[in-house]
Amino acid sequence: MIAGSKLRMTKQRQLILEELRKVTSHPTADDMYQVLRKKMPKISLGTVYRNLEILSDTGIIQKIDVGGTQKRFDADISTHYHIRCTICGRVADVHMEPHMELEAEAQKLTDYEILHHRVEYIGICPECRKKQS
Ligand code: ZN
Ligand code: MN
Repeated sequence: MIAGSKLRMTKQRQLILEELRKVTSHPTADDMYQVLRKKMPKISLGTVYRNLEILSDTGIIQKIDVGGTQKRFDADISTHYHIRCTICGRVADVHMEPHMELEAEAQKLTDYEILHHRVEYIGICPECRKKQS
């Protein structure tokens, strides 16, 4: 992460960022491409992917690596927790206060300088639960 560095905002990069900020679905590069191509028919999946990587490397957005699936992106860079449906794969935010004491505890146990922590809950979302019953 190159936090705080100046990043040149190309028109495409700006649009990608704007579209990501509109959603809370934690889209993959492919999901973003499907939306963006309607507004910018000449954009390629490669461009979308590359720009999402650049935006997350500079700390403007965050990349979430969840359970071996495709990388997902989140415009909300605050420390917050995620929950993933093991059936349909959707990833949602868990609106709870992050447990910062986990960092102090891990630091004590490992002598690492803890930079941040992630929590991912795994479950079955309400829609998938409905289909099951
Ligand atoms: Zn589900
Ligand atoms: Mn999120």
